[in-house]
Amino acid sequence: MMILCTVLAAPVLAAADPLRKSIDPIYADLDALYIDLHKTPELSRQEVQTSAKMADRLRRLGFDVTTQIGGHGVVGLLRNGDGPTVMLRADLDGLPIEEKTGVPYASQVIATSAAGKSVPVMHACGHDIHMTAWVGAATLLANARDRWRGTLMMVAQPAEETGSGALAMLKDGLFTRFPKPDFAFGIHDHSGLPAGKVAFTSGFALASVDSVDATIFGRGGHGAYPHTTVDPIVIAARSVVALQTLVARENNPLDPAVVTVGSIHGGSKHNIIPDEVRLQITVRSYKEAVRKKLLAGIDRILKAEAAAANAPREPTTVVSESTPATFNDPALTSRLAAMLRARMGTTAVVELPPVMGAEDFAEYGRAGVPAAIFWVGGVEPQKFAEAKRSGAVLPSLHSPHFVPAREPTIRTAVETMTAAALELLAKPAP
Ligand SMILES: [Zn+2]
Ligand SMILES: [Zn+2]
Repeated sequence: MMILCTVLAAPVLAAADPLRKSIDPIYADLDALYIDLHKTPELSRQEVQTSAKMADRLRRLGFDVTTQIGGHGVVGLLRNGDGPTVMLRADLDGLPIEEKTGVPYASQVIATSAAGKSVPVMHACGHDIHMTAWVGAATLLANARDRWRGTLMMVAQPAEETGSGALAMLKDGLFTRFPKPDFAFGIHDHSGLPAGKVAFTSGFALASVDSVDATIFGRGGHGAYPHTTVDPIVIAARSVVALQTLVARENNPLDPAVVTVGSIHGGSKHNIIPDEVRLQITVRSYKEAVRKKLLAGIDRILKAEAAAANAPREPTTVVSESTPATFNDPALTSRLAAMLRARMGTTAVVELPPVMGAEDFAEYGRAGVPAAIFWVGGVEPQKFAEAKRSGAVLPSLHSPHFVPAREPTIRTAVETMTAAALELLAKPAP
């Protein structure tokens, strides 16, 4: 009997939790919102309908709403007396992926990409979960103004997937036209963590990413007369091998770094030496000094290999997309992790090592705001346990098969966001 009581104690306490209970009456509405968002994803920089839906939700809750910040960005302010300003962020965009989850609410959307191509669109990164949780938190916090003081700043950010939306909002006055927050918080769903769990990483959590487009020039001609040409394919081949030494030989092994040539294109036929070869390289790191060294190293190696081959022109390298490393403020992270552990239990709130993926949430911290982004598990717990047993690989974020276990994921995400805001906006003890 004693053992039974101990086992039952935690869930009974949890069910009685007022915040968790307050999700019940709004859950059906949040579920409908999630399904609507999932069915109607929009590409980065095209989030017209999605941002209008977010702005409308905030207006109905009494927020002071401004739209079209840095593209389709939305800011909603709820002023509730003197106190700190806390920013909660959600991201709006989907991805050019054809959904293959088989769920009845799967996206059928086809859109035109920035390059003018017709592409299927899917919320394959779970940004629909983030928006639903964000609306849920805004609703609960607007309904419980007696429990906090200060300013709640809701930020719906466009173009996360191109790594450009956060910076565009900042450049458009996010922290000058609106109050600069004392804290910023966000969540991201996790495709390798069961629903109901929350995870955090203190300090550096997600890597910086630079997408480098390089062109190597030669002098084309007949494949039978190589001596009359400068072969850019041979220069490219040597360059790809030499680039591996940036991480293997020039980088401190204790500093995480990746240089991956993900695409190489040149030539059209067996017997033609082309004029040029194009490379696409992803560069990932944590420290700004490492990042600069890798980018400079790519430029140096490509130029040196071209010079060694007597190329008629220096190669060009362009960084087409950039996202800095995400740093979770350690004091804020440990404060929120301790609070979540106290309310959800220590096994439900776990610490994870950093990853080489990226998030432009990083920009808010770089703008001088103590910021943290936490993971929220998205996998059906039973599916997670089976995969662990069998060794099966679960669909990752950005997979056409990724579909979060919606109710437990949404409920945990709403609770996490709301509890974080309440912790930071709590009224001082009388
Ligand atoms: Zn993504
Ligand atoms: Zn994402």
